[in-house]
Amino acid sequence: MTESLTEFRASLTGDVLAPSDREYERARLCFNLLIDRRPAAIARCVDADDVATALAFAQQHDLEIAVRGGGHNPAGHCAVDDGLVIDLSRMRNVGVDPEARIAISEGGATWMDLDAATQAHGLVTPGGVVGSTGVTGLTLGGGIGHLTAQYGLTCDNLIAAELVTPVGEVVRANGDETPELLWGIRGGGGNFGVATRLMFRLHPLERVIGGLLEYAGGGVPGALRAFRDVDAGARKDLSCQAQLKVDEGLTPALTIAPCYTGPDEDPREYRALRSAPGLVSDGVRSQGFLDQQRVFDPGYGIDRHYWKGHFVGELPDELLDMLLERMAALGRPPGAILIESLRGAPKEVDPTSAAIGYRGAAFNVSVMATWIDPALDDEHIAWARETAAAIEPWSVSGGYANYMQADEPLDRVRSAFGAASFDRLRALKTRYDPGNVLHRNQNIPPI
Ligand SMILES: Cc1cc2nc3c(=O)[nH]c(=O)nc-3n(C[C@H](O)[C@H](O)[C@H](O)COP(=O)(O)OP(=O)(O)OC[C@H]3O[C@@H](n4cnc5c(N)ncnc54)[C@H](O)[C@@H]3O)c2cc1C
Repeated sequence: MTESLTEFRASLTGDVLAPSDREYERARLCFNLLIDRRPAAIARCVDADDVATALAFAQQHDLEIAVRGGGHNPAGHCAVDDGLVIDLSRMRNVGVDPEARIAISEGGATWMDLDAATQAHGLVTPGGVVGSTGVTGLTLGGGIGHLTAQYGLTCDNLIAAELVTPVGEVVRANGDETPELLWGIRGGGGNFGVATRLMFRLHPLERVIGGLLEYAGGGVPGALRAFRDVDAGARKDLSCQAQLKVDEGLTPALTIAPCYTGPDEDPREYRALRSAPGLVSDGVRSQGFLDQQRVFDPGYGIDRHYWKGHFVGELPDELLDMLLERMAALGRPPGAILIESLRGAPKEVDPTSAAIGYRGAAFNVSVMATWIDPALDDEHIAWARETAAAIEPWSVSGGYANYMQADEPLDRVRSAFGAASFDRLRALKTRYDPGNVLHRNQNIPPI
């Protein structure tokens, strides 16, 4: 292996990290500390040729492959014991054509990279809410964030991509030449090739009215209902998500993160949210979009995570009360239940344009167990599983692939797409990756 690694290093423009290298320990780390894997090598590619070389090297040496963008996937798909990580963290350039309103982002760019580049021209594409998340991983799984109601899912704004397939072929996914592949990568994940470039449609946007509204104590059940009701009646220029938590004394806490992009100085939706019971902190203000993108920024590689959830068609009182009870049952912070609205633009997009099957859902409800002490693993994982099971009666289209752990059964992956789309995705997988070389993902098995 040492000899072949030397040859591999020489054949790559980027670099290769082995366990004895100084940067290896940091480079193998994922966002989720529950995942602790030691790859045989990490190939830090700088272009599509490097990616093709790394794919060939892994297959010649029977090494399992993991593809790493921003390293945020809670399932830890970007890390593999004894295998090869194809790490795109040196491919983070983002080019913007302001006249054509298009951005081209390299396969390892993060939202921080893309937002900074597009905002320099007063433009934006809807992405994730945390700057260090990978643009590619998030987009290939759908993409829900602060601008979902206004501009749709992130994958709805993906107009083309360049992929390197496991045989080393560079293929383009676009609406003219390869519409089926473009459809498949809008939600179907990293199943078909390693994406080296993504092209996005951009929208003009500079300032938003956004930030965080915090509620605590006995008012939280009422505030949670207000969130649901305000969202139901909101205009398309407001995206909204909410996080339920508890504090050390098991008092319930709710954070609402609205993002308004319309013309009003004092939108009626905000008046309703501010008059909801239990408001203890009002951080909503007019701010630049880059500031809005920082309202949730957490640290990287600090906590252990186990996430599980369901798309739901509605949020009846019974479900909200059950969520409040389950937060109390957690017994200690941190940990949260995230509720993301899918109202607005995602419903206006042609449903046949993307492989995802949850466009019709009203909300994505995700149980997010987060802790630090490894001795608490079983307890927190059980809490997340039991809470997700309690949400299941309201489930309409499976779970969100971007938040799934690696232990999800195939049926859950299938229901996230719907049976017909899943069969189409399997046909596409058979065409581009018949040997299932790229299987460390929410896997679509070839036929
Ligand atoms: C703190 C945090 C915040 C998040 N916020 C949001 C949010 O606001 N909205 C949302 O929708 N999701 C969010 N997510 C979920 C996130 O979208 C997914 O976990 C996504 O998979 C992360 O992509 P990544 O590139 O960072 O992860 P990685 O772990 O590097 O990659 C995950 C998988 O994506 C695929 N992949 C990544 N890059 C490539 C590539 N270049 N080519 C082919 N396949 C690739 C591979 O299968 C890889 O295993 C968040 C996750 C975290 C941890």
